[in-house]
Amino acid sequence: MKCLQKTWLVIIFVLSISPLCLMASTKIQYLGKSKNGLYHLNNQKYSLYFILDKRNLYRVNSISNDDFKLKRAKMVHLLRLKGIKDESVLHDIQKVTRHLFMPVADYAYEDHPLRIASEQTISQPYIVAFMTGVTQIDSQSSVLEIGTGSGYQAAILGEICKEVYSVEVIPDLGNNASQLLHELGYRNIYFKIADGYRGWEQKTPFDTIIVTAATKKLPKEFLNQLKIGGRLIIPLEDQYQNQTLVKIIKTETESHFISDNLFDVRFVPMIGGNNA
Ligand code: SAH
Repeated sequence: MKCLQKTWLVIIFVLSISPLCLMASTKIQYLGKSKNGLYHLNNQKYSLYFILDKRNLYRVNSISNDDFKLKRAKMVHLLRLKGIKDESVLHDIQKVTRHLFMPVADYAYEDHPLRIASEQTISQPYIVAFMTGVTQIDSQSSVLEIGTGSGYQAAILGEICKEVYSVEVIPDLGNNASQLLHELGYRNIYFKIADGYRGWEQKTPFDTIIVTAATKKLPKEFLNQLKIGGRLIIPLEDQYQNQTLVKIIKTETESHFISDNLFDVRFVPMIGGNNA
């Protein structure tokens, strides 16, 4: 009887340290644990979801990465139908594994915003594609993103441009995104945990600033930190809480800006700064 108990203890011990062993492997990525205790591992072929408590290991789901590739292709097709024409943006959306940026992958390739940690959201693929398209960035661009969140938008920007600087006010989100993007091999994305209202003075000037949370007042720091000809894409909220995505271009005469209202949007509000 005692011997049997010992065997169980050994099995439980091995099972409990196995995620750590897997983490140590170079081929398998540990992508974190969601609030409801779901662990997420990923390797080249599969995404594996499981729950581990003190006694047991439950495998909840495993999805082949080929299935995800197909889902991504369907999503790209849908974005084309919805009017996204920029082929290089669509190419990057096909490439970036969106399901790795969220706690549960089930709805990752539907065209909706989804909840991530800390009551925040990952933007809808259409909005990511549209915003990326209007930034007019290329391989030489330096971009500032305000609101790292999951890191997905940063990854899409990182595929295209030379440098991405991404600022997040919630430390857990910023640190997780930074770790994930490093594991995925991005070396041109830089992170800062800070109040994004101040932009990132040390890295100015930027070709584009893309803001992924809504603000009531336009922070003048963003305009100051743009190059001449640079673009600011930002959701602005009015007194009735309607939000409009606005594109602002800094013209040759430094103090003159051209502003274009694009369409109505729904972003989470910016925290802190002058958004009260
Ligand atoms: N771009 C993200 C989506 C962002 S959701 C993605 O691809 O997943 C908006 C993000 O803005 C949230 O993570 C929120 O914490 C962050 N945020 C809100 N106020 C901020 C501020 N003042 N400075 C920096 N980030 C802020």
